[in-house]
Amino acid sequence: MKYDVVIIGAGPGGIFTAYELMQKNKNIKVGVFEGGHELSKRKCPIDGDKVPSCIRCKSCSIMSGFGGAGAFSDGKYNITNDFGGTLYEYIGKNKATELMQYVDNINMKHGGEGTKLYSTTGTDLKKKCLQNKLKLLDASVRHLGTDINQVVLGQLYDELKDQVDFYFDTLVETIEKTDDGFKVKTAEEEYECDICVASVGRIGSKWMEKVCKEMNIKTKSNRVDIGVRVELPAVIFSHLTDELYESKIVYRTEKFEDAVRTFCMNPHGIVVNENTNGIITVNGHSYEDPERQTENTNFALLVAKHFSEPFKDSNGYGESIARLSNMLGGGVIVQRFGDLVRGRRSNETRIKEGLVVPTLQATPGDLSLVLPKRILDGIIEMIYALDKIAPGTANADTLLYGVEVKFYNMEVDLDEHLESNYPGLFIIGDGSGVTHSLSHASASGVYVAREIASRLS
Ligand SMILES: Cc1cc2nc3c(=O)[nH]c(=O)nc-3n(C[C@H](O)[C@H](O)[C@H](O)COP(=O)(O)OP(=O)(O)OC[C@H]3O[C@@H](n4cnc5c(N)ncnc54)[C@H](O)[C@@H]3O)c2cc1C
Repeated sequence: MKYDVVIIGAGPGGIFTAYELMQKNKNIKVGVFEGGHELSKRKCPIDGDKVPSCIRCKSCSIMSGFGGAGAFSDGKYNITNDFGGTLYEYIGKNKATELMQYVDNINMKHGGEGTKLYSTTGTDLKKKCLQNKLKLLDASVRHLGTDINQVVLGQLYDELKDQVDFYFDTLVETIEKTDDGFKVKTAEEEYECDICVASVGRIGSKWMEKVCKEMNIKTKSNRVDIGVRVELPAVIFSHLTDELYESKIVYRTEKFEDAVRTFCMNPHGIVVNENTNGIITVNGHSYEDPERQTENTNFALLVAKHFSEPFKDSNGYGESIARLSNMLGGGVIVQRFGDLVRGRRSNETRIKEGLVVPTLQATPGDLSLVLPKRILDGIIEMIYALDKIAPGTANADTLLYGVEVKFYNMEVDLDEHLESNYPGLFIIGDGSGVTHSLSHASASGVYVAREIASRLS
Protein backbone atom coordinates (compact mmCIF):
# COMPACT_ATOMS: atom_id res chain seq x y z
CA MET A 1 0.00 0.00 0.00
CA LYS A 2 1.37 3.42 -0.90
CA TYR A 3 0.30 6.73 0.67
CA ASP A 4 1.28 10.30 -0.09
CA VAL A 5 1.44 10.92 3.65
CA VAL A 6 1.62 8.52 6.57
CA ILE A 7 0.86 9.95 10.00
CA ILE A 8 1.99 7.95 13.02
CA GLY A 9 -0.18 8.65 16.08
CA ALA A 10 -3.77 9.93 16.25
CA GLY A 11 -3.35 12.36 19.15
CA PRO A 12 -4.06 16.08 18.65
CA GLY A 13 -0.86 16.47 16.57
CA GLY A 14 -1.79 13.64 14.18
CA ILE A 15 -5.48 14.55 14.03
CA PHE A 16 -4.81 18.18 13.13
CA THR A 17 -2.22 17.15 10.52
CA ALA A 18 -4.85 14.95 8.84
CA TYR A 19 -7.58 17.57 9.27
CA GLU A 20 -5.56 20.38 7.72
CA LEU A 21 -4.28 18.19 4.86
CA MET A 22 -7.91 17.45 3.96
CA GLN A 23 -8.78 21.16 4.14
CA LYS A 24 -5.98 21.95 1.73
CA ASN A 25 -6.36 19.08 -0.72
CA LYS A 26 -8.79 16.16 -0.46
CA ASN A 27 -6.84 14.24 -3.11
CA ILE A 28 -3.84 13.70 -0.85
CA LYS A 29 -3.84 10.04 0.15
CA VAL A 30 -3.33 9.84 3.90
CA GLY A 31 -2.93 6.83 6.22
CA VAL A 32 -3.06 7.34 10.00
CA PHE A 33 -1.55 4.60 12.18
CA GLU A 34 -2.54 4.51 15.84
CA GLY A 35 -1.30 2.01 18.43
CA GLY A 36 -4.41 2.47 20.61
CA HIS A 37 -8.12 1.94 20.08
CA GLU A 38 -10.63 4.03 18.20
CA LEU A 39 -12.40 6.61 20.37
CA SER A 40 -15.57 4.62 21.09
CA LYS A 41 -13.52 1.62 22.31
CA ARG A 42 -11.29 3.58 24.66
CA LYS A 43 -12.30 2.63 28.18
CA CYS A 44 -10.13 2.57 31.29
CA PRO A 45 -11.19 -0.51 33.33
CA ILE A 46 -10.76 1.26 36.69
CA ASP A 47 -14.25 1.54 38.16
CA GLY A 48 -13.33 2.22 41.79
CA ASP A 49 -15.10 -1.00 42.75
CA LYS A 50 -14.15 -4.31 41.06
CA VAL A 51 -11.09 -2.69 39.49
CA PRO A 52 -9.94 -0.12 42.04
CA SER A 53 -6.57 0.69 40.50
CA CYS A 54 -4.52 0.37 37.33
CA ILE A 55 -4.20 -3.16 35.91
CA ARG A 56 -1.61 -2.10 33.33
CA CYS A 57 -3.55 -2.83 30.12
CA LYS A 58 -1.52 -3.63 27.01
CA SER A 59 -2.77 -0.44 25.40
CA CYS A 60 -3.58 2.23 28.01
CA SER A 61 -6.90 3.80 27.05
CA ILE A 62 -6.06 6.96 28.98
CA MET A 63 -2.85 7.62 27.07
CA SER A 64 -3.42 6.15 23.62
CA GLY A 65 -6.03 5.77 20.91
CA PHE A 66 -7.90 8.34 18.79
CA GLY A 67 -7.47 11.65 20.64
CA GLY A 68 -4.13 10.59 22.15
CA ALA A 69 -3.25 11.47 25.73
CA GLY A 70 -5.71 14.34 25.47
CA ALA A 71 -8.89 12.31 24.95
CA PHE A 72 -9.90 12.04 28.61
CA SER A 73 -8.10 15.19 29.58
CA ASP A 74 -9.76 18.25 30.91
CA GLY A 75 -9.56 19.72 27.41
CA LYS A 76 -7.86 22.93 28.46
CA TYR A 77 -6.51 24.58 25.36
CA ASN A 78 -4.05 27.24 26.56
CA ILE A 79 -3.49 29.85 23.89
CA THR A 80 -0.12 31.20 24.94
CA ASN A 81 3.58 31.07 24.21
CA ASP A 82 4.41 31.35 27.93
CA PHE A 83 4.00 27.60 28.53
CA GLY A 84 2.88 24.43 26.80
CA GLY A 85 5.88 24.11 24.52
CA THR A 86 8.45 25.96 22.49
CA LEU A 87 6.77 25.87 19.07
CA TYR A 88 7.34 29.64 18.82
CA GLU A 89 11.10 29.05 18.75
CA TYR A 90 10.66 27.30 15.38
CA ILE A 91 7.86 29.30 13.79
CA GLY A 92 7.72 32.62 15.65
CA LYS A 93 5.33 33.81 18.36
CA ASN A 94 2.75 35.42 16.06
CA LYS A 95 2.44 32.35 13.84
CA ALA A 96 2.21 30.04 16.86
CA THR A 97 -0.56 32.15 18.42
CA GLU A 98 -2.40 32.39 15.11
CA LEU A 99 -2.34 28.59 14.70
CA MET A 100 -3.53 28.00 18.26
CA GLN A 101 -6.44 30.35 17.59
CA TYR A 102 -7.16 28.52 14.34
CA VAL A 103 -7.30 25.22 16.26
CA ASP A 104 -9.66 26.83 18.77
CA ASN A 105 -11.96 27.90 15.89
CA ILE A 106 -12.04 24.36 14.53
CA ASN A 107 -12.85 22.97 17.96
CA MET A 108 -15.68 25.49 18.25
CA LYS A 109 -17.06 24.33 14.89
CA HIS A 110 -16.97 20.70 16.03
CA GLY A 111 -19.05 20.78 19.17
CA GLY A 112 -17.06 23.17 21.35
CA GLU A 113 -19.24 26.23 20.83
CA GLY A 114 -20.59 27.69 24.05
CA THR A 115 -17.57 26.67 26.13
CA LYS A 116 -15.83 29.45 28.02
CA LEU A 117 -12.61 31.23 27.07
CA TYR A 118 -10.85 32.58 30.17
CA SER A 119 -8.09 35.19 30.09
CA THR A 120 -5.51 36.71 32.43
CA THR A 121 -5.75 40.07 30.64
CA GLY A 122 -6.48 42.86 33.11
CA THR A 123 -6.85 40.66 36.17
CA ASP A 124 -6.04 42.05 39.66
CA LEU A 125 -4.82 38.62 40.65
CA LYS A 126 -1.49 39.32 38.94
CA LYS A 127 -0.78 42.07 41.46
CA LYS A 128 -1.87 39.94 44.39
CA CYS A 129 0.45 37.16 43.21
CA LEU A 130 3.44 39.48 42.80
CA GLN A 131 2.88 40.92 46.27
CA ASN A 132 3.33 37.39 47.58
CA LYS A 133 6.39 36.39 45.52
CA LEU A 134 4.26 34.50 42.99
CA LYS A 135 4.08 35.12 39.25
CA LEU A 136 0.89 34.56 37.30
CA LEU A 137 1.68 33.64 33.67
CA ASP A 138 -0.29 35.19 30.81
CA ALA A 139 -2.72 32.99 28.86
CA SER A 140 -6.15 32.59 27.33
CA VAL A 141 -7.63 29.23 28.27
CA ARG A 142 -10.45 27.49 26.42
CA HIS A 143 -11.91 24.95 28.79
CA LEU A 144 -13.75 22.25 26.87
CA GLY A 145 -14.04 19.86 29.80
CA THR A 146 -13.60 16.11 29.49
CA ASP A 147 -17.13 15.60 28.18
CA ILE A 148 -17.12 18.28 25.45
CA ASN A 149 -13.56 17.31 24.53
CA GLN A 150 -14.96 13.87 23.66
CA VAL A 151 -17.72 15.44 21.56
CA VAL A 152 -15.18 17.49 19.60
CA LEU A 153 -12.98 14.45 19.02
CA GLY A 154 -16.01 12.43 17.92
CA GLN A 155 -17.02 15.06 15.37
CA LEU A 156 -13.48 15.40 14.03
CA TYR A 157 -13.31 11.63 13.63
CA ASP A 158 -16.68 11.50 11.86
CA GLU A 159 -15.49 14.12 9.42
CA LEU A 160 -12.11 12.49 8.79
CA LYS A 161 -13.00 8.80 8.70
CA ASP A 162 -14.22 8.82 5.10
CA GLN A 163 -11.36 10.98 3.87
CA VAL A 164 -8.30 9.27 5.35
CA ASP A 165 -7.50 5.64 6.19
CA PHE A 166 -7.30 4.99 9.93
CA TYR A 167 -5.50 1.91 11.25
CA PHE A 168 -6.26 1.42 14.96
CA ASP A 169 -4.52 -1.01 17.32
CA THR A 170 -1.68 -0.81 14.86
CA LEU A 171 1.69 0.17 16.24
CA VAL A 172 4.29 1.27 13.76
CA GLU A 173 7.44 -0.66 14.56
CA THR A 174 10.01 0.97 12.28
CA ILE A 175 10.48 3.80 9.79
CA GLU A 176 12.96 3.23 6.96
CA LYS A 177 14.21 5.64 4.36
CA THR A 178 13.64 4.43 0.80
CA ASP A 179 14.85 5.94 -2.51
CA ASP A 180 11.77 8.09 -2.93
CA GLY A 181 10.24 8.32 0.52
CA PHE A 182 9.75 6.12 3.57
CA LYS A 183 8.62 2.63 4.49
CA VAL A 184 6.72 2.17 7.75
CA LYS A 185 6.44 -1.33 9.14
CA THR A 186 3.75 -2.61 11.49
CA ALA A 187 3.70 -6.12 12.99
CA GLU A 188 1.81 -7.40 9.95
CA GLU A 189 2.28 -5.09 6.98
CA GLU A 190 4.58 -2.60 5.29
CA TYR A 191 3.38 0.70 3.87
CA GLU A 192 5.21 3.15 1.64
CA CYS A 193 4.82 6.91 1.66
CA ASP A 194 6.39 10.04 0.21
CA ILE A 195 6.10 11.94 3.45
CA CYS A 196 5.95 10.72 7.03
CA VAL A 197 4.75 12.66 10.06
CA ALA A 198 5.59 11.14 13.45
CA SER A 199 3.32 12.44 16.21
CA VAL A 200 3.70 9.76 18.86
CA GLY A 201 3.29 11.79 22.04
CA ARG A 202 4.68 11.02 25.42
CA ILE A 203 3.72 7.35 25.33
CA GLY A 204 5.79 7.00 22.15
CA SER A 205 8.86 8.68 23.64
CA LYS A 206 10.93 5.51 23.98
CA TRP A 207 9.98 4.39 20.47
CA MET A 208 10.85 7.82 19.07
CA GLU A 209 14.20 7.70 20.83
CA LYS A 210 14.89 4.31 19.23
CA VAL A 211 13.91 5.56 15.76
CA CYS A 212 16.17 8.59 16.14
CA LYS A 213 19.06 6.37 17.20
CA GLU A 214 18.52 3.97 14.29
CA MET A 215 18.19 6.79 11.76
CA ASN A 216 20.96 8.91 13.22
CA ILE A 217 18.73 11.87 14.05
CA LYS A 218 20.24 14.03 16.78
CA THR A 219 18.36 14.43 20.08
CA LYS A 220 18.92 15.96 23.48
CA SER A 221 17.12 15.46 26.76
CA ASN A 222 17.70 17.05 30.11
CA ARG A 223 14.46 17.83 31.92
CA VAL A 224 11.85 16.18 34.09
CA ASP A 225 9.25 17.81 36.37
CA ILE A 226 8.50 16.09 39.66
CA GLY A 227 5.94 16.92 42.31
CA VAL A 228 2.56 16.19 43.80
CA ARG A 229 -1.09 16.76 43.01
CA VAL A 230 -2.83 18.94 45.56
CA GLU A 231 -6.52 18.44 46.31
CA LEU A 232 -8.52 20.86 48.43
CA PRO A 233 -12.07 22.21 48.77
CA ALA A 234 -12.93 24.05 45.55
CA VAL A 235 -14.06 27.11 47.49
CA ILE A 236 -10.46 27.82 48.60
CA PHE A 237 -9.38 28.48 45.02
CA SER A 238 -12.72 29.70 43.66
CA HIS A 239 -11.68 33.38 43.31
CA LEU A 240 -8.87 32.19 40.98
CA THR A 241 -10.70 29.44 39.14
CA ASP A 242 -13.94 31.40 38.63
CA GLU A 243 -12.04 34.21 36.94
CA LEU A 244 -9.19 32.35 35.18
CA TYR A 245 -10.22 28.69 35.33
CA GLU A 246 -6.58 27.62 35.23
CA SER A 247 -3.95 29.83 36.80
CA LYS A 248 -0.34 29.03 36.00
CA ILE A 249 1.58 30.41 38.93
CA VAL A 250 5.33 30.22 39.42
CA TYR A 251 7.20 30.52 42.72
CA ARG A 252 10.96 30.77 43.20
CA THR A 253 11.99 28.97 46.37
CA GLU A 254 13.95 30.86 49.03
CA LYS A 255 16.16 27.91 49.86
CA PHE A 256 17.34 26.58 46.50
CA GLU A 257 15.98 29.24 44.12
CA ASP A 258 14.20 26.46 42.22
CA ALA A 259 11.06 27.28 40.23
CA VAL A 260 7.92 25.52 41.50
CA ARG A 261 4.78 25.94 39.42
CA THR A 262 1.13 25.07 39.44
CA PHE A 263 0.12 22.81 36.58
CA CYS A 264 -3.12 21.38 35.23
CA MET A 265 -5.69 22.95 37.52
CA ASN A 266 -9.05 21.18 37.68
CA PRO A 267 -11.78 23.13 39.45
CA HIS A 268 -14.44 20.76 40.85
CA GLY A 269 -12.44 17.94 39.30
CA ILE A 270 -11.16 14.49 40.14
CA VAL A 271 -7.70 13.07 40.69
CA VAL A 272 -6.82 10.11 38.46
CA ASN A 273 -4.12 7.49 38.01
CA GLU A 274 -1.90 7.68 34.97
CA ASN A 275 0.07 4.79 33.56
CA THR A 276 3.24 5.71 31.72
CA ASN A 277 5.06 2.64 30.50
CA GLY A 278 3.79 0.62 33.47
CA ILE A 279 4.61 3.24 36.10
CA ILE A 280 1.63 4.64 37.97
CA THR A 281 1.64 8.35 38.55
CA VAL A 282 -1.11 10.83 39.28
CA ASN A 283 -2.98 13.38 37.17
CA GLY A 284 -6.34 15.12 37.23
CA HIS A 285 -9.28 16.28 35.17
CA SER A 286 -12.70 17.83 35.47
CA TYR A 287 -16.01 17.85 33.65
CA GLU A 288 -17.96 20.72 32.12
CA ASP A 289 -21.23 18.97 33.09
CA PRO A 290 -22.20 20.25 36.59
CA GLU A 291 -23.62 16.82 37.46
CA ARG A 292 -20.17 15.27 37.21
CA GLN A 293 -18.39 17.95 39.18
CA THR A 294 -17.04 17.43 42.70
CA GLU A 295 -16.59 19.66 45.75
CA ASN A 296 -12.81 19.66 45.24
CA THR A 297 -10.26 21.39 43.08
CA ASN A 298 -6.96 19.76 42.21
CA PHE A 299 -3.74 20.93 40.63
CA ALA A 300 -0.15 19.80 40.43
CA LEU A 301 2.81 21.49 42.04
CA LEU A 302 5.89 20.64 40.02
CA VAL A 303 9.58 21.32 40.37
CA ALA A 304 11.58 21.29 37.13
CA LYS A 305 14.83 19.33 37.28
CA HIS A 306 17.35 20.16 34.56
CA PHE A 307 20.40 17.96 34.43
CA SER A 308 23.80 18.73 32.99
CA GLU A 309 26.49 16.42 31.56
CA PRO A 310 27.33 13.61 32.07
CA PHE A 311 23.81 12.64 33.27
CA LYS A 312 21.46 12.22 30.33
CA ASP A 313 18.54 10.12 31.55
CA SER A 314 16.24 12.75 33.12
CA ASN A 315 13.14 10.63 32.43
CA GLY A 316 14.84 7.63 34.05
CA TYR A 317 15.37 9.78 37.16
CA GLY A 318 11.66 10.70 37.24
CA GLU A 319 10.65 7.07 36.66
CA SER A 320 12.81 5.88 39.56
CA ILE A 321 11.08 8.29 41.93
CA ALA A 322 7.65 7.23 40.65
CA ARG A 323 8.68 3.57 41.03
CA LEU A 324 9.60 4.24 44.64
CA SER A 325 6.08 5.52 45.35
CA ASN A 326 4.65 2.49 43.50
CA MET A 327 6.88 0.22 45.61
CA LEU A 328 5.77 1.78 48.92
CA GLY A 329 2.13 2.37 48.09
CA GLY A 330 1.39 -0.19 45.36
CA GLY A 331 0.55 2.82 43.21
CA VAL A 332 -0.14 6.42 44.12
CA ILE A 333 0.38 7.59 47.73
CA VAL A 334 -1.86 10.16 49.44
CA GLN A 335 -0.86 12.24 52.44
CA ARG A 336 -2.46 15.09 54.37
CA PHE A 337 -0.37 18.27 54.29
CA GLY A 338 -0.57 18.41 58.11
CA ASP A 339 0.91 14.91 58.39
CA LEU A 340 3.68 15.76 55.95
CA VAL A 341 4.85 18.83 57.90
CA ARG A 342 4.57 16.91 61.19
CA GLY A 343 6.78 14.19 59.73
CA ARG A 344 4.30 11.32 60.04
CA ARG A 345 2.59 9.12 57.51
CA SER A 346 -1.11 9.47 56.84
CA ASN A 347 -3.36 6.54 57.55
CA GLU A 348 -6.93 5.56 56.58
CA THR A 349 -8.39 7.02 59.79
CA ARG A 350 -6.75 10.42 59.52
CA ILE A 351 -7.73 10.71 55.84
CA LYS A 352 -11.32 9.68 56.67
CA GLU A 353 -11.54 12.19 59.53
CA GLY A 354 -10.18 15.00 57.34
CA LEU A 355 -12.33 17.70 55.76
CA VAL A 356 -11.26 16.89 52.21
CA VAL A 357 -12.87 13.77 50.74
CA PRO A 358 -10.34 12.20 48.36
CA THR A 359 -11.56 11.70 44.78
CA LEU A 360 -8.94 9.03 44.07
CA GLN A 361 -8.51 5.87 46.06
CA ALA A 362 -4.80 5.96 46.87
CA THR A 363 -2.67 4.44 49.61
CA PRO A 364 -2.18 6.67 52.66
CA GLY A 365 1.55 7.04 53.18
CA ASP A 366 4.53 9.31 53.61
CA LEU A 367 5.70 11.32 50.61
CA SER A 368 8.89 12.35 52.40
CA LEU A 369 10.10 8.76 51.89
CA VAL A 370 9.65 9.18 48.14
CA LEU A 371 10.48 12.71 47.07
CA PRO A 372 14.01 14.14 47.28
CA LYS A 373 14.34 16.75 50.06
CA ARG A 374 15.03 19.60 47.66
CA ILE A 375 11.81 18.92 45.74
CA LEU A 376 9.72 18.37 48.86
CA ASP A 377 11.03 21.56 50.51
CA GLY A 378 10.15 23.52 47.36
CA ILE A 379 6.60 22.14 47.35
CA ILE A 380 6.07 22.91 51.04
CA GLU A 381 7.40 26.47 50.55
CA MET A 382 5.03 27.01 47.62
CA ILE A 383 2.01 25.71 49.53
CA TYR A 384 2.69 28.34 52.20
CA ALA A 385 3.12 31.02 49.49
CA LEU A 386 -0.18 29.98 47.85
CA ASP A 387 -1.83 30.11 51.26
CA LYS A 388 -1.30 33.89 51.18
CA ILE A 389 -3.29 34.36 47.97
CA ALA A 390 -5.72 31.49 48.64
CA PRO A 391 -6.01 31.13 52.44
CA GLY A 392 -6.65 27.53 53.38
CA THR A 393 -4.22 26.01 50.89
CA ALA A 394 -1.88 25.11 53.76
CA ASN A 395 -4.65 23.57 55.90
CA ALA A 396 -3.67 20.31 57.56
CA ASP A 397 -6.38 18.42 55.64
CA THR A 398 -5.19 19.49 52.18
CA LEU A 399 -4.37 16.28 50.35
CA LEU A 400 -1.16 15.64 48.44
CA TYR A 401 -0.99 12.74 45.99
CA GLY A 402 2.36 11.51 44.77
CA VAL A 403 4.00 11.36 42.68
CA GLU A 404 3.12 13.46 39.71
CA VAL A 405 5.83 13.34 37.09
CA LYS A 406 5.85 15.29 33.89
CA PHE A 407 8.13 13.47 31.52
CA TYR A 408 9.57 15.45 28.67
CA ASN A 409 10.39 13.74 25.46
CA MET A 410 13.90 14.21 24.27
CA GLU A 411 14.11 17.18 21.91
CA VAL A 412 14.60 16.07 18.34
CA ASP A 413 16.87 18.16 16.14
CA LEU A 414 14.42 19.79 13.70
CA ASP A 415 14.48 22.73 11.31
CA GLU A 416 11.99 25.59 11.02
CA HIS A 417 9.53 23.26 9.22
CA LEU A 418 9.70 20.72 12.09
CA GLU A 419 11.46 18.49 9.56
CA SER A 420 14.29 16.16 10.51
CA ASN A 421 17.59 15.77 8.67
CA TYR A 422 15.62 13.38 6.38
CA PRO A 423 13.65 15.59 3.96
CA GLY A 424 10.02 14.53 4.19
CA LEU A 425 10.23 13.15 7.74
CA PHE A 426 8.42 15.58 10.08
CA ILE A 427 8.36 15.06 13.83
CA ILE A 428 5.70 17.00 15.74
CA GLY A 429 3.68 17.24 18.93
CA ASP A 430 4.88 16.06 22.32
CA GLY A 431 6.88 13.26 20.70
CA SER A 432 9.23 15.83 19.18
CA GLY A 433 9.94 17.49 22.53
CA VAL A 434 8.77 20.78 20.96
CA THR A 435 5.28 20.77 22.52
CA HIS A 436 3.80 19.72 25.86
CA SER A 437 0.15 20.65 25.44
CA LEU A 438 -3.03 20.14 23.45
CA SER A 439 -2.92 23.55 21.76
CA HIS A 440 0.76 23.48 20.84
CA ALA A 441 0.61 19.85 19.64
CA SER A 442 -2.49 20.60 17.51
CA ALA A 443 -0.92 23.77 16.12
CA SER A 444 2.24 21.87 15.15
CA GLY A 445 0.01 19.48 13.15
CA VAL A 446 -1.67 22.32 11.25
CA TYR A 447 1.72 23.90 10.61
CA VAL A 448 3.32 20.82 9.00
CA ALA A 449 0.14 19.96 7.07
CA ARG A 450 0.23 23.36 5.35
CA GLU A 451 3.90 22.87 4.45
CA ILE A 452 3.24 19.34 3.14
CA ALA A 453 0.18 20.40 1.14
CA SER A 454 2.17 23.17 -0.54
CA ARG A 455 4.91 20.69 -1.48
CA LEU A 456 2.43 18.16 -2.88
CA SER A 457 0.45 20.69 -4.93
C1 LIG B 1 -4.71 12.89 32.01
C2 LIG B 1 -4.10 13.96 31.13
C3 LIG B 1 -4.64 15.25 31.15
C4 LIG B 1 -4.11 16.25 30.33
N1 LIG B 1 -4.71 17.47 30.33
C5 LIG B 1 -4.29 18.43 29.49
C6 LIG B 1 -4.96 19.67 29.38
O1 LIG B 1 -6.00 19.91 30.00
N2 LIG B 1 -4.43 20.63 28.55
C7 LIG B 1 -3.30 20.40 27.81
O2 LIG B 1 -2.88 21.30 27.08
N3 LIG B 1 -2.67 19.20 27.86
C8 LIG B 1 -3.13 18.22 28.65
N4 LIG B 1 -2.49 17.00 28.69
C9 LIG B 1 -1.37 16.79 27.76
C10 LIG B 1 -1.90 16.60 26.35
O3 LIG B 1 -2.83 15.54 26.35
C11 LIG B 1 -0.74 16.34 25.39
O4 LIG B 1 0.15 17.43 25.44
C12 LIG B 1 -1.22 16.13 23.96
O5 LIG B 1 -2.16 15.08 23.89
C13 LIG B 1 -0.05 15.85 23.01
O6 LIG B 1 -0.55 15.54 21.75
P1 LIG B 1 0.29 14.62 20.73
O7 LIG B 1 -0.55 14.43 19.54
O8 LIG B 1 1.64 15.20 20.58
O9 LIG B 1 0.51 13.24 21.48
P2 LIG B 1 -0.51 12.22 22.15
O10 LIG B 1 -1.78 12.89 22.48
O11 LIG B 1 0.24 11.56 23.24
O12 LIG B 1 -0.82 11.17 20.99
C14 LIG B 1 0.15 10.31 20.49
C15 LIG B 1 -0.54 9.06 19.94
O13 LIG B 1 0.45 8.30 19.23
C16 LIG B 1 0.21 6.92 19.45
N5 LIG B 1 1.47 6.21 19.22
C17 LIG B 1 2.61 6.29 19.94
N6 LIG B 1 3.57 5.53 19.39
C18 LIG B 1 3.02 4.94 18.30
C19 LIG B 1 3.51 4.03 17.31
N7 LIG B 1 4.76 3.57 17.31
N8 LIG B 1 2.65 3.62 16.34
C20 LIG B 1 1.34 4.07 16.29
N9 LIG B 1 0.84 4.94 17.21
C21 LIG B 1 1.68 5.37 18.19
C22 LIG B 1 -0.26 6.86 20.90
O14 LIG B 1 -1.01 5.68 21.10
C23 LIG B 1 -1.07 8.14 21.04
O15 LIG B 1 -2.44 7.92 20.84
C24 LIG B 1 -3.00 15.98 29.50
C25 LIG B 1 -2.44 14.69 29.48
C26 LIG B 1 -2.97 13.67 30.27
C27 LIG B 1 -2.39 12.31 30.23
